[in-house]
Amino acid sequence: MPLYEYFCEDCQKEFTLLQSTDANKAETKCSECGSQKTQHKFSSFAPKIVGKPLADLQKPVTVDDFPNKDVFKLPPPGLR
Ligand SMILES: [Zn+2]
Repeated sequence: MPLYEYFCEDCQKEFTLLQSTDANKAETKCSECGSQKTQHKFSSFAPKIVGKPLADLQKPVTVDDFPNKDVFKLPPPGLR
């Protein structure tokens, strides 16, 4: 059974439930206060992958990505 993440509007708490895929998520009760005002959230890892374009992940790291660029002005140790 997959894990589902919920947010309770009544007690403002997030909780995770182990549910079967055919469980009625609209009637899921809060594990803290028993309220049915729960919102089903997507699993925590999915939005991060969807929100980040694949091209962005594959972009090579350049000197501009580092805040302290002076480090790269030093000669490599092997050439001294
Ligand atoms: Zn609650």
